[in-house]
Amino acid sequence: MPPLDVPTMLLMTAAASATMAGSLAAVRPQRREGMGLWALALVLHTITYVLYTLRGVVPNWASVVLANTLLSGTFALVLAAVHQFLGLALPWRRMGLPVLVMAVLFALFMDDYRACVIVAGVVAPIQLTMVLWSLWRPRPPAPLRGAALLTAGLGLQAVLLASRSALVASRGVPAGGLLQTDGLQSLTFIAAFVVVILSSLGFILMTKDRADADNRYYAAHDGLTGLFNRRALLLAAHRDVAHAVRMHQPYALMMVDIDHFKSVNDGHGHPGGDRVLCHVAELLRARLRAQDMVGRYGGEEFLVLLPGTALHDAVVLAETLRGAVEQAPAVHEGRPIAVTLSIGVCGGRPQHAGSWETLLRKADQALYAAKTAGRNRVQCLALTQDLTDTLAAPVH
Ligand code: GH3
Ligand code: MG
Ligand code: MG
Repeated sequence: MPPLDVPTMLLMTAAASATMAGSLAAVRPQRREGMGLWALALVLHTITYVLYTLRGVVPNWASVVLANTLLSGTFALVLAAVHQFLGLALPWRRMGLPVLVMAVLFALFMDDYRACVIVAGVVAPIQLTMVLWSLWRPRPPAPLRGAALLTAGLGLQAVLLASRSALVASRGVPAGGLLQTDGLQSLTFIAAFVVVILSSLGFILMTKDRADADNRYYAAHDGLTGLFNRRALLLAAHRDVAHAVRMHQPYALMMVDIDHFKSVNDGHGHPGGDRVLCHVAELLRARLRAQDMVGRYGGEEFLVLLPGTALHDAVVLAETLRGAVEQAPAVHEGRPIAVTLSIGVCGGRPQHAGSWETLLRKADQALYAAKTAGRNRVQCLALTQDLTDTLAAPVH
């Protein structure tokens, strides 16, 4: 590789860091997920590289001791950012100790370039290894794409500093010191530039991927019970019924409503009512097959989707669910709260994709029938059946 001008490369790296830091500061991330600490790390990195560029112009305590202490501080803040992203406490000792060691050793060996390269090549890779350790332990981070980029960036930086230190230890230093123009220096500082881009993009991608996953989750789930929400249920019913039509399979759904729920709220307060909702949600969820889907349709109403299930089997299941809730009261502040369920079931062989609306309407009618018949019971209606037939033959 042709030797490149070192001060220019150093300034390019400073410019890349400053641009990234400025962009992050301008965006002002709202959530505490390490982005602010990452921006601060980039500010330290910028100052480090500006001080490197000024080697020989400013005194050595600034361009050598201060610059490398700031480089170590950059990696300490990177460790802090990763910890904050993962929701862990900041590891003050693991952050501070290497910075202190770097400051003391550089102050001691300020005028010995070879010793300085070796110290940086030992301390900084240890710091970077600690970052990667935190990132991957005890388990790989969920947003993998960003973590992989970040690991590539920080790993490259660690390998680079360590191998440069090994080379300098065995071969000696270039006569011109830091600003000497040669192949090794070119490689080192091109890589430093790449590291800033790669690891910053990796970190940003990590936070973005996690925010996307959170948004997807909250768009489909109920905040109180953790069950699917109405939107997710209706999308699934639409999709499942179209599938059942294609495969000539039966399909059933049940509308579940807690009886006299208002009196639970009146007697035990809203938190008591919330506890009952979570308790019922858990009982329903625990008794369904993997292909079934249960969600909170609204207030104290739940909808259960049962693909490939005949009406008769759905009614048997509904009866099991009703009995399970009747026999297991919720407990709130040490007091049992007994509730019962009314369930309307509708099932059959849907003939066209729009049948999901009919299924839903008839399950609701059956639920209404269960309420008017006295509550704590299951009523069913076949897809092709009218309400009057069902009232003549109640299931429970
Ligand atoms: P029924 O047997 O006829 O179903 O009577 P009900 O009292 O269960 O039905 P109603 O529809 O009259 O009342 C439902 C109550 O559910 C009213 C509302 O305050 C309460 N509710 C709705 N959502 C929540 C919630 O998230 N938490 C709590 N605690 N209560 C809720
Ligand atoms: Mg109710
Ligand atoms: Mg209701």
